[in-house]
Amino acid sequence: MKVIKVSKQGFCNGVKRALDLVFQTVKENQKNEPIYILGELMNNEFVSHKLNELGVITIKANSRKRVEMLEDITSGIVILTAHGVSPEVKKILDKKNLKYVDTTCPFINKTEDKIKSYLIKGYDVIYIGKHNHPESEGIIDINPNKIHLITSLDETNSLSINNEKIFITTQTTIREKLLKEILKTLMNHYPNAVYYDGVCNSTTLRQEALINEITGDLCIVVGDKISSNANELQKIGNQYLPTYLVNSVEEIKKEWFEGVKVVTLTSAASTPDELTDSIYEYLIKL
Ligand code: SF4
Repeated sequence: MKVIKVSKQGFCNGVKRALDLVFQTVKENQKNEPIYILGELMNNEFVSHKLNELGVITIKANSRKRVEMLEDITSGIVILTAHGVSPEVKKILDKKNLKYVDTTCPFINKTEDKIKSYLIKGYDVIYIGKHNHPESEGIIDINPNKIHLITSLDETNSLSINNEKIFITTQTTIREKLLKEILKTLMNHYPNAVYYDGVCNSTTLRQEALINEITGDLCIVVGDKISSNANELQKIGNQYLPTYLVNSVEEIKKEWFEGVKVVTLTSAASTPDELTDSIYEYLIKL
């Protein structure tokens, strides 16, 4: 089977950096202290399993905020995920005398710093993001009275802020179409608002590469079904070719390949190369 790999795929810089910091923490843990990750490091079971094998324990959210999840930890080292956390989480870590490794993506830190600087200047912040997402939780909890989370046009229309100074920014992963609609409405309501684009192009670059390079008879996306960017890649692939989302060789079905000569292969921003490589090796032998 001929397999064409899409040029832009796999870990984004933020996820790669976070994982490297976890490995480094494991390596330097000479006292053999328990190591916890506060929430999922990335949306991929394969990675969670690998980390588990190294003895790294992932504290599951189960609808809890990170401050509540900390109740499960009394000693050891806590790894904060790339999504970032609120200052309150760090305060509790210090109070409990817990060591921590902060893997917050520098891209998210930049937005956070902007927000803090505008709050100091007396602005209210409108944050376009998602409910119940660790990234928005970390941002909103900086100052829940002054940072207003907007996730839909309905919420935008019912928002009323009594402040001339408005700063608008976004979560890193927001659908472009929705963002444009919300921004248009917000700018009508608050024409003097200052806007900072916090969208990270890592996922859009992967989507554009797939659109430009998809070829052959079938497309395989490597990623977890719980990963939204993996699902998005599958949706895009399906617009051109039959496209399957798999997270292991075992999930691949031979009957998909009847009459298939060329396969396009891509992977999500939370998929390790090791996994994609194993699927590539399998496909070329078909
Ligand atoms: S998608 Fe972008 S913001 Fe999110 S971790 Fe990756 S590089 Fe950072």
